[in-house]
Amino acid sequence: MLKKLSRAALGAAVPHEKGTAHMATVQIPLPDKIVLCMQQHIGAPAVPVVKKGDHVDVGTLVGKAGGFVSADIHSGVSGTVTGIETVRYVTGRNVQAVVIQPDGQQTLDASVKPPVVEDYAGFIKAVQNCGLVGLGGAGFPTAVKLSPKDVSAIDTLVINGAECEPYLTADNREFLECADTVAEGIRAVMKYLEIPRCLIGIERNKPEAMDRMFTVFQSEPNVTVVPLPSRYPQGAEKVLIEKTTGREVPRGGLPSDVGVIVMNVTTVSTLGKYLRTGMPLVTKRLTVEGDAVAKPANVEAIIGTPLRHILDFCGTKAEPAKVVTGGPMMGTAQLSLDFPVLKQNNGLLVLSEKAAHLPAVQPCIRCGRCISACPMGLSPVEIAGAYNRGDVEALDAMMVDLCMACGTCSFVCPAKRPVAQTMALAKDTLKRKGGKK
Ligand code: SF4
Ligand code: SF4
Repeated sequence: MLKKLSRAALGAAVPHEKGTAHMATVQIPLPDKIVLCMQQHIGAPAVPVVKKGDHVDVGTLVGKAGGFVSADIHSGVSGTVTGIETVRYVTGRNVQAVVIQPDGQQTLDASVKPPVVEDYAGFIKAVQNCGLVGLGGAGFPTAVKLSPKDVSAIDTLVINGAECEPYLTADNREFLECADTVAEGIRAVMKYLEIPRCLIGIERNKPEAMDRMFTVFQSEPNVTVVPLPSRYPQGAEKVLIEKTTGREVPRGGLPSDVGVIVMNVTTVSTLGKYLRTGMPLVTKRLTVEGDAVAKPANVEAIIGTPLRHILDFCGTKAEPAKVVTGGPMMGTAQLSLDFPVLKQNNGLLVLSEKAAHLPAVQPCIRCGRCISACPMGLSPVEIAGAYNRGDVEALDAMMVDLCMACGTCSFVCPAKRPVAQTMALAKDTLKRKGGKK
């Protein structure tokens, strides 16, 4: 039986470290090259539609969605395609990438003009043409998310403005700098999907963002700002749905099963910008932070910019020992600063050897803190035991498939055990050996 997600003790009081919250976004100079990976989303990789020597402009389609669950990819620079290369992800997977040398002119592609949208089908087409994916980190193609089996059953749009990961303030800046396009995106989704209400979830440690949304929607009673506790992981989709609507997504189910669609605030705002200008998704705001960064900042980078170029712009004050895209709880450690910015990246965390040093792992003391903190009501210490025994039946009974890899159990563990990593292995074991999910 699942615990009620609303239990006050669930989750963890992580240090917020939001020192960049008041730093306005700065654009970084053009890099020498951009590397557009064809896999910047969940689903099938995009397929390159340009070749070496081709000229592209800002907004030119360079990768066409490779299936229903996939997304188009566009150039954020004008310049020349220098090759189609292979990029290795940290997972070991090799992915095709279109490499472009900018010409510095930033000329616009002729296709960049506001889309004409008249109905739901036209709206979904526009979302596809924008190349939009979940920008909070998930990378799920937005056109697919906005095409549930029964769109008439959706009664609530939930906007994820929690930004509960330490350090990250990119979504906060979207609320503050782009409140008008946040509102335009929300109104468009509500209009074309005929969703009667919208709930905007924002952690209480972002009072300015809440104020901005209260002001923007003060005469629209069907849009409500929902203050959330400043407690990790309020932004996890199932937690957010429970906190804002009181509904619990069933095991193996989707938010649409409880009448909800969840969109990240930057995603919905990017949609608002696209409907206004026709410029597809080609840039991304990232919070650059960590003890090795000389000048932490919120930067707007062209998607495909090598991480090194961003770090050069912000400077270093210690030798980088660990580079993470995203936040410290759920981000992805990168092998190299040559790796490019992907659509779904919202942070670049650069740590020194001292900060990146992991404490020694101690034996489990059976304190149960991982159980008390798990937002999904799981029992990590018991699941770890079942995993070590190879007991797939027990893993199924303890519903390890519900683990969302939030890392809270590892964070609270006084023995510094890699609990979340064990959960990921246990979940994979259940999946591979024929259990549920
Ligand atoms: S990583 Fe999984 S098991 Fe650990 S707290 Fe998060 S949901 Fe629970
Ligand atoms: S929090 Fe750590 S030490 Fe405590 S029960 Fe869980 S795994 Fe064991």
